[in-house]
Amino acid sequence: MRQVELSVIVPMRNEARNLGPLLDRLRPVLDRLDLPAEVICVDDGSTDGTADMLKMAHAVDPRVKAISLSRNFGKEMALAAGLHEARGRAAVLMDADLQHPPELIERFVALWREGWEVVYGQRRDRQADGPLRRWLSTAFYRLFALVGQTELPPGAGDFRLLDRKVIDALNAIEERTRFTKGLYSWVGFRQVGVPYDVPMRSGGSSRFSLLALWRHAVDGITAFSTIPLRVWSYLGLLVSAVALGYGLFIVVRTLLYGTDLPGYPSLMVAIMLLSGVQLIGLGVMGEYVGRIFAEVKRRPLYLVRETVGFGEPAGSRPAGGELRLAAVGGSRVDGPGLREE
Ligand code: UDP
Ligand code: MG
Repeated sequence: MRQVELSVIVPMRNEARNLGPLLDRLRPVLDRLDLPAEVICVDDGSTDGTADMLKMAHAVDPRVKAISLSRNFGKEMALAAGLHEARGRAAVLMDADLQHPPELIERFVALWREGWEVVYGQRRDRQADGPLRRWLSTAFYRLFALVGQTELPPGAGDFRLLDRKVIDALNAIEERTRFTKGLYSWVGFRQVGVPYDVPMRSGGSSRFSLLALWRHAVDGITAFSTIPLRVWSYLGLLVSAVALGYGLFIVVRTLLYGTDLPGYPSLMVAIMLLSGVQLIGLGVMGEYVGRIFAEVKRRPLYLVRETVGFGEPAGSRPAGGELRLAAVGGSRVDGPGLREE
């Protein structure tokens, strides 16, 4: 078998009807590039027959390979699964809904050959998203720029090419809360952006609800910043200082003018405000403790039900000695959480 040069990784959640149009546009691009390529489709717990479509696609074009996860693990984990299985000297990550134009891959590969290790697509605008989502995402990126300890290039998403060095670096990261956008920046390497316009989704609607995006945003902040944890001590200091000043003021005033009627409303406001602030602080602590809990359990990132097109036996992977496969109940259990001691 020829060494694969380029792995295209496509996470898929119920994308059965997008698979055909996607491959129709992707295949000519790969043909033109004339590289030994593989297309790794990660079926992320689809219920619409995506897995069967993938088997048919593999029969037609053996470059198409499939990994079916045992349930829906989310896009970040689907990408992690694809990156672990990728054998190429470079990998392109792209969505299945044609919002990431396959033709751009040629440009990515050209820049990669010039020596860039990460080539990311940069959205010029987000017209394809609704106004609320656009506004929320702008707000998130502003906040992230403020508190995040890693810089995110504007408009950069998952559509990108990664060199083998970067793939290995990402595969070595064992974080369970995977905010991949942040990890791409965190690993460093020589990076360059390619601007592109995002077309409308080719079929169905976005697989992410606002609630899912909110959770993703909290994951992002907590994974890349400890400022939310530390801000409470400063707030506490400030509130204590104000309280101390106010206490002194009351003592002095009582000494000079005696007592007047005690102020019930101001007392209530102070109690409610302070208990509210304390609960928020506790909640933020909880967010981090919950994530520490998830990390120390060291569960595998994802579980694989079946794979199609990966003929070779487990263990023959280029991705550094860190990663091993284990057989559980006939299917393969994967992820950096499992190691041979
Ligand atoms: N996706 C996935 N698992 C999920 C949700 C989404 O693999 O739990 C895939 C989806 O099939 C698509 C890509 O991630 O290929 C981007 O999803 P979508 O287009 O719904 O997101 P948006 O474009 O709105 O960010
Ligand atoms: Mg989309």
